[in-house]
Amino acid sequence: MRRQKRKLSKKETKALEKTRLSEQDTEELPLVKKSERRVIAIGETITVRDLARLFAIPVTELIKVLMKNGLAASINEVIDWETAAIVGDEFGIQVELKKEEKGHRPVLLSESETKTIPRPPVVTVMGHVDHGKTQLLDTIRQSRIIETEAGGITQRIGAYQVDFQGKKITFLDTPGHEAFEKMREHGANITDIIVLVVAADEGVKVQTIEACHLAKRANVPIIIAINKIDLPQANPLRVKQQLSELGLVCEEMGGETPCISISAKEKINIDELLEMILLVAELKDLKANSSKPATGVVIDSQLDAKIGPIAFVLVQDGILKKGDFLVAGKTWGRVRLIEDEWGHSLESVGPSAPVKIIGLKTTPVYGDFFQVVSDEKMVYQVLGDLKKINAQQQVMASKKGVPMVVKAETMGALTTVVDKMKEIQTEEPIAIVKEGIGAVTEDDVMTASATGALIVGFRVGIFEGAKNLAKKKKVRVCLYDVIYELLKDVAEKIKPKKEVVEVLVGQARVLKVFNKSKQRTIVGIEMTKGFVENGLKAVLKREEGEMALGRVISLKREKEKVGKLTEGMLGGIGLSISEVVREGDRLEFYKKEEG
Ligand code: GDP
Repeated sequence: MRRQKRKLSKKETKALEKTRLSEQDTEELPLVKKSERRVIAIGETITVRDLARLFAIPVTELIKVLMKNGLAASINEVIDWETAAIVGDEFGIQVELKKEEKGHRPVLLSESETKTIPRPPVVTVMGHVDHGKTQLLDTIRQSRIIETEAGGITQRIGAYQVDFQGKKITFLDTPGHEAFEKMREHGANITDIIVLVVAADEGVKVQTIEACHLAKRANVPIIIAINKIDLPQANPLRVKQQLSELGLVCEEMGGETPCISISAKEKINIDELLEMILLVAELKDLKANSSKPATGVVIDSQLDAKIGPIAFVLVQDGILKKGDFLVAGKTWGRVRLIEDEWGHSLESVGPSAPVKIIGLKTTPVYGDFFQVVSDEKMVYQVLGDLKKINAQQQVMASKKGVPMVVKAETMGALTTVVDKMKEIQTEEPIAIVKEGIGAVTEDDVMTASATGALIVGFRVGIFEGAKNLAKKKKVRVCLYDVIYELLKDVAEKIKPKKEVVEVLVGQARVLKVFNKSKQRTIVGIEMTKGFVENGLKAVLKREEGEMALGRVISLKREKEKVGKLTEGMLGGIGLSISEVVREGDRLEFYKKEEG
């Protein structure tokens, strides 16, 4: 995918010059001198993040150089190898196109100054609800408890590792495709292998198909685990046939997809499954670097009242050590404690290890990337750069629709609001330039001001400073306690595609009820106001309020079928309203009109 390069304006070039590193800063970066020019082979395309990793430079540095070359790329953006070659030059690294591209993982050709080591596979268990994902993860976890540690796993840290035949496997603890998708939204392909669980009694279901598509899109190999074979109604053969229709042809049927029949509950063939995972991992030849500072991803986090922010991270590359300076998403800190799932305190951990860390200033969020940097000065530089990059991305995002900043009380509420806002049908889509939890801050106002966004808050307040700033910057802030009102206003503010309104066109009084059934009622009415037509929406009202809703299904006047009754007329009317109708009730008729 070749991107249009654009020339930078004078202002942009100047701004870049300013952000360039000083001599001193440069010394701290693991840049490569020309005399030690490295050669790196990559595939046709690579993400900015992966490239930075290969260059062994902070990703922000790479983004700066890309910007200098006229390419405003984000951390997850995919660039072609030619662009990579251009920027590689700036770092004294020669980038070549890999001859036979085997997968997405880039390979270092000349690794004299880096030490690569094999790393354990990271496995995600996916599949339809109730097909046994949790049971399988538990069974595998338990088998390890019995074999290795009497005390058992003391804490859940978002993933766990098992030792099998002298090798390690990392299992991500959150089963299901939501977690996987979420990670991918952040551009993190942290999974090396997917175990797709399919219940032998139920076979392929919606989420099985979804998981299969996700795996294919992400280019992650699948191992099929046909589960619940202990059940009498289990029919593994039928499952295999269904799977081949999805393009997953099992090895024994002449295909390439490994397939193991298991029972997570009865612990049948679990070792065989683990063996298969190791085999597939071996074929992938998973490697990581053991001689550089760690990078990885946040897989969970929590705020402990006594301990403070806790982050659960998966080290993807390099070594994470106690005392390291770490930047994770928007937060940072010095690692004070590293613990595994057994509660063991560790001095350092290597690639594919899931660990709990303490020392960050605030809690990072699921899917945030982290990187170890040399010192506190570097922390601020990286955070500052990220902020700039973020701001730039926000401006870019704001051009894709009606810009909005969304704040909500909790993560769950935020997800709901954002999802519902996206569902609103509008000519121009809503472009959420920033979303977050908690009261509206000055930072939110600044973002809104820079992007021309409207701030929408759900069950949150606004800080005094932010309020004043919003006034000054003429930023509109709308706060709501009721989601329906929020959505209604949002829909109005951004002009719905076709606003359909229901207009009250007529009113009537029920004089007599002729015929009642569960589905319909025929009543004699007097039109007190306006008119009524066939097909209109009818609302039945009494003193207590609204009693029922229905539609006008027939109209008669003096035994003759008519299309319309107008004010003052008496007539018979058939309603798709059940037996609730009584004499004396009022009827209102509504017509849909496009606003
Ligand atoms: P998930 O929604 O995919 O995580 O499914 P669960 O792991 O929660 O399992 C759903 C149900 O299937 C639970 O009642 C499990 O006890 C049951 N189950 C899981 N694995 C097996 C199995 O191998 N055999 C049988 N008979 N039941 C199983």
